[in-house]
Amino acid sequence: MPSPSALFSHRSLFLTLLLLLGCGFLATSLLSYYASRGAIRDGIINTELPLTSDTVYSEIQKDLVRPVQISAMMAQDTFMRDWVLAGEHNPERMTRYLNEVMASQGTWTSFFVSDRTLTYYQAKGVLKQVKPDAWRDAWYFRLRASPEPYQTNVDLDMANHDSLTVFINHRVLDYQQRFIGAVGVGLSVASVVKLIDDYERRFQRSILFTDAQGKVVLTGSEGSLHGLRAGQQLADSAEWQELLARMPTPTAGSHEYTDSDGHSHFLNVRQLPELDWYLLVDKRESDALDRIRQSLYLNLAICAMITLVVLSLLNAMVKRHQDNTAALATLDSLTGLPNRRSFDLLAAQALTEAQRDNAPLVALLIDLDHFKVLNDTHGHLAGDEVLRQFANVLQSSLRQSDILCRWGGEEFIVLLREAEGRQAIEVAEKIRRRTEQLIFSYADKPLRLTVSIGLSGLQPDDTLHSLLTRADHALYRAKQGGRNRVCSETPGTLHD
Ligand code: GH3
Ligand code: MG
Ligand code: MG
Repeated sequence: MPSPSALFSHRSLFLTLLLLLGCGFLATSLLSYYASRGAIRDGIINTELPLTSDTVYSEIQKDLVRPVQISAMMAQDTFMRDWVLAGEHNPERMTRYLNEVMASQGTWTSFFVSDRTLTYYQAKGVLKQVKPDAWRDAWYFRLRASPEPYQTNVDLDMANHDSLTVFINHRVLDYQQRFIGAVGVGLSVASVVKLIDDYERRFQRSILFTDAQGKVVLTGSEGSLHGLRAGQQLADSAEWQELLARMPTPTAGSHEYTDSDGHSHFLNVRQLPELDWYLLVDKRESDALDRIRQSLYLNLAICAMITLVVLSLLNAMVKRHQDNTAALATLDSLTGLPNRRSFDLLAAQALTEAQRDNAPLVALLIDLDHFKVLNDTHGHLAGDEVLRQFANVLQSSLRQSDILCRWGGEEFIVLLREAEGRQAIEVAEKIRRRTEQLIFSYADKPLRLTVSIGLSGLQPDDTLHSLLTRADHALYRAKQGGRNRVCSETPGTLHD
């Protein structure tokens, strides 16, 4: 059985290893996780979102900036201004003009609204009269009051089945710089919406456009991040509150914020100066980091498994080593019999039990005769082999309950339990006789051997030492008596 200190060092070895492996694996896994996380965050902030923003920007520029130039050109057109100032006769001339612009510039629609008559001219004819109290016409009155030369407005086009259209509305001034109407073109934003949808689907990022005040002007076809639709304010969604506290109106740059569900977001904001719009590209951190978080968990699971396997292998090795050491410590390596150390323990226990139960216990001290001569004649290895064979003779002559040990050199001790007097002498005699009769062999050479045995029975006040001392005296007498005999020290049973 391992000693308490061995157990302690066993446990502390395991704890140290567990700690080392655990901390080592944890540290490397976390280091690589944080390194990848940092690289991914940098990639998102510095590359991914700005690139998306660039692509969407160039697409919308293609779609929107040219129409701004077209409407500016229309507003400067002398035919347009002259025709209005001349009293708007022959509306079909205006209609034709608008139709020409639409066809030649490839716009979705083109229009003119006269300030004098509030007539809305369109490429297909006169559409309607604009009214100050109609929500659909609010854009006109806003533009009329605006100091800006033009405004953009994302709206449903009544003339084109209410499809989502970006209108570029340009103020038209007469030659004295007085406001005489609004002209412009409208174009479908279907291609931009498609691009937004495509990006949102493929790269798990959300894209929307707002005006300078944070009003959403354009989103993907399914609406935008945090459920916002065109026409709503960013502030209408609770998700933006944390960001809007720092950035009340859109500000170009990279931002990070936490939505109302506690998710972190990266946000890239870019200004579109031609339209005074802001393009917002948003990505949720967890979408980007889920994969590496999963690989961290997998990593940790593998590390835990390796730690477990290493520790159980080590446990098995240590246990085997301990068993071997324990066996080595208690057994004699030549004969495989218990050695003196284990005999001391077994004998002390046997003595206590015998004295407690008042049971008999007999010690036999056995010494091989003239062993030195055998060694000198046949060699030390022959002596070793004879010792091994003699140990077998001893073992086969005793009961399981008897205690047997190699005392040292060519001396052996036997403690016979539950045997006294004649019985013990018979066992000793049996050993002596068998040894005498047995032909030992080494390298096919027959070898003969005899033993002398000293015998003593346990007395009530004996110690192991006094018991063995008497057996030793008996052995001495056996040697003196001519060897190959059993002598007893127990009073009354003396035998030669
Ligand atoms: P006696 O009959 O008086 O006992 O004579 P002896 O030669 O047996 O006595 P002694 O005690 O002088 O010698 C014992 C010898 O046993 C001496 C030693 O070399 C030998 N011996 C002790 N241990 C071993 C061993 O492990 N192997 C071998 N081969 N010889 C051993
Ligand atoms: Mg001896
Ligand atoms: Mg001897």
